[in-house]
Amino acid sequence: MIKDDNMMKLNKKQIWIFGDYRNYFQNRVTLQLLAKSKELSKQLDAEVCAVVMGHNTREYIDEYIAHGADIIYSFEHADLSVYNVEKFVTLTVGLVQKYQPEIFLIGGTSFGHEFAPRVAKRLQTGLTADCIELSINEDNILVQTAPAFGGNLLAEIITPEHRPQMATIRPGIFQELPHDYERQGKVITLDMPSDLPKDRIRWIRSEREPQTEQSLEKAAVVVCGGRGMQSKKKFKKLFDLARLLRGEVGATRPVVYSRWAEPETLVGQAGKQVGPQILFSFGISGAIQHTAAITDAKFIIAINKNSNATIMKMADVAIVSDANQVCSALIKAFKNRIRE
Ligand SMILES: Cc1cc2nc3c(=O)[nH]c(=O)nc-3n(C[C@H](O)[C@H](O)[C@H](O)COP(=O)(O)OP(=O)(O)OC[C@H]3O[C@@H](n4cnc5c(N)ncnc54)[C@H](O)[C@@H]3O)c2cc1C
Repeated sequence: MIKDDNMMKLNKKQIWIFGDYRNYFQNRVTLQLLAKSKELSKQLDAEVCAVVMGHNTREYIDEYIAHGADIIYSFEHADLSVYNVEKFVTLTVGLVQKYQPEIFLIGGTSFGHEFAPRVAKRLQTGLTADCIELSINEDNILVQTAPAFGGNLLAEIITPEHRPQMATIRPGIFQELPHDYERQGKVITLDMPSDLPKDRIRWIRSEREPQTEQSLEKAAVVVCGGRGMQSKKKFKKLFDLARLLRGEVGATRPVVYSRWAEPETLVGQAGKQVGPQILFSFGISGAIQHTAAITDAKFIIAINKNSNATIMKMADVAIVSDANQVCSALIKAFKNRIRE
């Protein structure tokens, strides 16, 4: 552990991640960002750093190091045990001004959407919201890819002049690295400034909403939909079908990029692995990045208007038809069944 004042002058660029450890076991976006930053850092010859604020955070610090962080900037204080946007933003802005990271990434969660724009505004830098891809270009600038114009276009956005280059990233897009408890990292403990904003909100208690939905990975029935569903409105029908079958909805990447479904529904290499008793595949071509995650499904029913689509060859039942029509027909049939 190193005290802030003893910190040597930085001689490497740094990529920072904000460590949002609340609901740690479900919310994995910080770990996903650490993994992606590790990849980007090779091209930039940069260090990957996580900012951790709170009380009793040591276990999260160890997790972040095990998942790829080289350095942790840690504010550890009882006053930070409850998330408070004003305090967290003030501390973060001061830290960024002092250490001047090259890149600063934040999970695109409700927390990130509240926190990141405030930090960016105070630092007078840019912010790209809800990125789905990140890369480094030939000028060593971060290329931030995000859906634009209702998801019909992908925009590549750069911040050539201002620093840090800031982005929020959708959860579920990148894959976290496996734990490596042998990894060593540096923890820099920071002193709390005396002029932090006073609490304007009185915190009484917090309660997490009960998780009502079963998880996609464990569902016995999965209703997967792809680009062949053609629109968000039509895709919604899959939720009706899944509800009737007490199943869960899964989606392909184009569906998630078009915002027809939430990133948590992504099935595939960059998303979830499923192994249901029955898997419906509506309007999905069967790209390896998707099918690699459905190989444990016991019975696959694929609906595609193209009989040569790859998914049709791996299906137990292949229906050559319009996906929307089949979905509507199944909903009607199951509803009738329930009424009988
Ligand atoms: C690094 C990397 C990671 C990736 N990770 C993932 C991942 O985790 N998950 C994932 O899904 N993808 C992932 N992809 C993307 C993947 O390669 C495919 O592009 C994607 O799976 C295709 O989705 P799709 O089948 O919905 O769309 P498409 O490939 O466009 O297929 C649409 C299908 O719908 C059919 N169709 C069209 N209209 C109708 C209709 N009216 N009725 C019936 N059928 C119709 C078409 O015949 C076609 O077969 C990844 C790609 C890369 C490069």
